[in-house]
Amino acid sequence: MENLISKGKCHCGEIEYNLEGSKQFEFLCHCRDCRVLNGGGHLSGIIFDKTSLRIEGKTNLYSYKGGSGEAIDAHFCPKCATTLFAYPKHHPDIVVVRANTLEDENLFTPKQSIFHETAFKWDTVIGS
Ligand SMILES: [Zn+2]
Ligand SMILES: [Zn+2]
Repeated sequence: MENLISKGKCHCGEIEYNLEGSKQFEFLCHCRDCRVLNGGGHLSGIIFDKTSLRIEGKTNLYSYKGGSGEAIDAHFCPKCATTLFAYPKHHPDIVVVRANTLEDENLFTPKQSIFHETAFKWDTVIGS
C-alpha cells in the first residue's frame, strides 16, 4: 500500500496533526451516532494504524458508547470544537481520522458508505 504523508488541522489551527502511514479503509458512515456528531450528516473517515498519527496541541475528549457497545474516544479542539480523530476501543490499534480536516482534500477517496440504511434522506450515499 502507498505510504501517505499528510497533515491536517482543526478550523482555528490550535490542533495540528501529521500522518505517515498507509490508509487502511476510507468510508462514509451514516450510523445514528456519526450523522449527529458530524455536521455534514455523516462521518468522512480514514482509518490508519494508530502509530501513523502525531498530534500537536492538546485535544479534549468526548467518549461515547459506539455501535459495538464499547467506547469510542473522539478528540476535538477545545477552542473551535472541530473533531479531528477518534479511537474505537474495540480496535485498539487504529485511529479514525476525519477526512474533512486533512490539508489535501484529494487524499480522501471513499469507496463505501456504511450504515446507509440510517442515512438522512437528504444526504448522499455512495452507490445508491
Ligand atoms: Zn481549533
Ligand atoms: Zn458511524
